[in-house]
Amino acid sequence: MAINWTEAQIEQVIAQVINNLGGAASTVRNDWDSTQYNGRKLIGIYADMNDAIDAATAGYKAIRAMSLEEREKVIAKVRELCRKEAPIMAKLGVAETKMGRVEHKTAKHILVADKTPGTADIVAQVKTGDYGLTLTEMAPFGVVGSITPSTNPSETVICNSIGMIAAGNGVVFNPHPNAIATSNYAVDLINRASAAAGGPNVLVASVVKPTLDTAQIMYKHPNIRLLVCTGGPGVVRSVLSSGKKAIGAGAGNPPVIVDDTADIRKAAKDIIDGCTFDNNLPCIAEKEVFAFKNIADQLISEMQNNGAYMITPEQAGKLANIVLVDSKNPKTGIVKKTVSRDCVGRDAAVLLEKIGVKVGGDIRCIICETGFDHPFVQHELMMPILPIVRVNDIDQAIDLAVKAEHGNRHTAHMHSKNIDHLTRFARAVETTIFVKNAPSYAGIGFGGEGHTTFTIAGPTGEGLTSARSFTRFRRCVLSESFRII
Ligand code: NAD
Repeated sequence: MAINWTEAQIEQVIAQVINNLGGAASTVRNDWDSTQYNGRKLIGIYADMNDAIDAATAGYKAIRAMSLEEREKVIAKVRELCRKEAPIMAKLGVAETKMGRVEHKTAKHILVADKTPGTADIVAQVKTGDYGLTLTEMAPFGVVGSITPSTNPSETVICNSIGMIAAGNGVVFNPHPNAIATSNYAVDLINRASAAAGGPNVLVASVVKPTLDTAQIMYKHPNIRLLVCTGGPGVVRSVLSSGKKAIGAGAGNPPVIVDDTADIRKAAKDIIDGCTFDNNLPCIAEKEVFAFKNIADQLISEMQNNGAYMITPEQAGKLANIVLVDSKNPKTGIVKKTVSRDCVGRDAAVLLEKIGVKVGGDIRCIICETGFDHPFVQHELMMPILPIVRVNDIDQAIDLAVKAEHGNRHTAHMHSKNIDHLTRFARAVETTIFVKNAPSYAGIGFGGEGHTTFTIAGPTGEGLTSARSFTRFRRCVLSESFRII
């Protein structure tokens, strides 16, 4: 029997299928022009992925011909433009994706400009002995294919570009379709910086309309030697099955434990600051709290003093039915809950309004007491909703927090002054990032020591990626005579 579907119905089914593949339903939704900004044509943006790869290959050849000093000049210019244009990209990102907060996105760009390592991250190793000298250098892969998320779109493009260029690679991007205008603005920024600093006019490239098909072209193209993917489980899985060397930076669901030795007032403020940063979009942000029952009331009260609004279990149930929607796998027919893209990264006030609660601009987080099995604990929501689960002791806290992290081994947090508790949780949870007594963003160098990145590669083990993550080791053996002692 023939089915006569309307165009709208077909679009809806395509969106559903793509969504089940890995959350890219927006391919059919975003009609932002990704080729220009305010009438200015963006440089390095191609209609065809093959042309984008050709341009990135030419960029790679140009980098190979540049000295380290020249490369560093380009990177310095990228940093300068990134700092200067941070507010533009922050506003653009919020306007296009409807997610996050302008002031926080601005801060994220400045963090990228200031704390993404450049060429100094590339360090050669030398071994000398009876037989002479062996030199090991960190060499570029060639052209890197990078898939970037909607949650930190321009931040990831710039952070990846700095590291990949510092390592001597070319880069082609397949950005998130929901953030294509913002991502391509960042691609253009890199190219403007390159031209201004004496590099090629097109150093990095992207496409007008990224899709799963353009990603596939990237996976299969012989010039692409390394794939770097920052995104949810679907896309990381697909990149890791590509048959190419790949770096996968996937999902998290960071738990926080607060025990009864913590400075509760500070813990409450730190947790709310971290959880609400860019409306909880960063993959490292606090997603659920396990609080010792003897301090839970005080913790909740201090959170309320810091812009948290407490909802009842009934309201939490109602909100869960709005922020999580049924999604059916077309192959298996299995229906599972996924986050509603209309709720990810939205302000707390907007989410509260959906259950009929009106609050002022001072409310930045929704908190609620839940059991461990509540969907707010189990799902990576990426919105300023923070469930709090009471626990009896450290054994129960660690057991539940490790389970809630779902084996992502991404990020976990703890507020405590008990060294044994801190050590036990860090060992048990095995995350790439473990933050003690600070907001989550300290883990990526914002108010914490260490470099920054927006590509945290847990599954493939590079950790907080930097220029050296995008290199391959090459050895040169110099026989005899090169030892001076
Ligand atoms: P997403 O998973 O929806 O999409 C990421 C990118 O992958 C997009 O470009 C999308 O179009 C593309 N894509 C999706 N499925 C694909 C497939 N099967 N083949 C090829 N391309 C595909 O990501 P998002 O919603 O923008 O980002 C949120 C997710 O990313 C969260 O799970 C978050 O934790 C994670 N994330 C991780 C890090 C990290 O450093 N580990 C950083 C940011 C975001």
